Amino acid sequence: EFHLVLLDNGRSRMRADPALREALYCIRCGACMNTCAPYLGVGGHVYGGQTYMSGIGNAWEAGVHGLEEAAGFNELCTTCGRCTEVCPVKIDIPWLNTVIRQRAGSLTGRARWQRWLIGRVDLSGRWGSYTAPLSNWLVRAKPLRLLLEKVLALDRRRRLPAFRRPTLEQRFRRHRPARSDGPLQGTKVALLPDCFTNYYQPEIGLAAIELLERLGCSVELAPRRCCGRGLLSQGLIEEVKPLARRSMETLERLAGQGYELVGVEPSCLAALRGEYAHIIGSKRAARLRPHLWEILEYLQHCHLPPELFAGPEQQLVYHGHCQQKAIGANRAAISLLANIPGVKLKVVEVPCCGMAGSFGYKRDFYQLSMQLGRRLTKKLEKLEGQIVLCGSSCRAQVEELSGRSVRHPLELLLERLKSKELSGPGGHDEEPVARDKL
Ligand code: SF4
Ligand code: SF4
Repeated sequence: EFHLVLLDNGRSRMRADPALREALYCIRCGACMNTCAPYLGVGGHVYGGQTYMSGIGNAWEAGVHGLEEAAGFNELCTTCGRCTEVCPVKIDIPWLNTVIRQRAGSLTGRARWQRWLIGRVDLSGRWGSYTAPLSNWLVRAKPLRLLLEKVLALDRRRRLPAFRRPTLEQRFRRHRPARSDGPLQGTKVALLPDCFTNYYQPEIGLAAIELLERLGCSVELAPRRCCGRGLLSQGLIEEVKPLARRSMETLERLAGQGYELVGVEPSCLAALRGEYAHIIGSKRAARLRPHLWEILEYLQHCHLPPELFAGPEQQLVYHGHCQQKAIGANRAAISLLANIPGVKLKVVEVPCCGMAGSFGYKRDFYQLSMQLGRRLTKKLEKLEGQIVLCGSSCRAQVEELSGRSVRHPLELLLERLKSKELSGPGGHDEEPVARDKL
């Protein structure tokens, strides 16, 4: 008599689960581990369970041993998407981990209301900008930092970004379009005012608008709709759905009117181009996808002659944002910058700057975030030149750790374009006209 005992270990349950079944495609090659910054930072089974380690370990642990086991290390995933980029079977690990974070709820150590408060960056930004500079003074005051650490577990040592007033939206109302006979004449662009650019770094949004206008585009600021990136990072998928519906309606309307949709914040674009397929449906997301661009990717797509930005010798030191890499926009940014006459581009490669949205602000991950950030700044220390980074998180981390000035590459492109126009024949000598007079 022969008895064959098959140990299923929860695999049938995983196969029946619409989200977890994707983990069954894993061939256990280990590529995701070698690209995952938090895993490389903590090592071994600290990020992982008894089954698999690193990001894919979340789904396996949830499937084989239950949610409670997975919840213990789920928050180590920053949902950066680097692992999916290298996975030979393209498992959407960040989405799996977002679903597990949603299901695990307070098992991750944070109650829903705490995660909601951290994730609603649109509301905190609106409140903070409206009341700035008082809000900036308040959030830097020691008692409030202690309170934020106690209530939301946001590490008091981390420097918080300053709210800005007027916001990008307010500045745009007074903006005078730059006139140009540039090569992109006849192109309509809607710039996406993500929450970070709108409330914390409006000058980058304005620089993007001016750059596109000087290249000949007719630029509008899209109505501000939070994409929900902050909530997604907290695993609050249900809460993102109404925001996603509003965003989609606005973006679809603009695309229908012939606008190209251009953003400057890679993490928000990654939500629109990535997670939205799960939230609002892959067909609808795919229809919008050809109109969504990261700004450097868009300029590269337009095949602009690099001589447009030619100018004096300048060394730029560049590090790609994780989600910019994950959405495939990093290579375009590098080739755009590297081909500009006069620009010497140094690309610094480390897995991640360590900030990754709210990750670096959390008390539990502050040390790890700093450790990952120092790997980057150590490399930057050896290089002279202007540091240029596309992501707001990367800029905040590198500025805090290195004390050096960090800019968005588009600001440098605008400066080079303007100085070329001024020095070259046929420069802009017309006074710009206010929007309300056009
Ligand atoms: S999404 Fe990023 S942090 Fe999460 S498992 Fe993948 S590489 Fe690691
Ligand atoms: S890269 Fe993909 S296939 Fe390889 S171990 Fe990671 S999840 Fe599995």
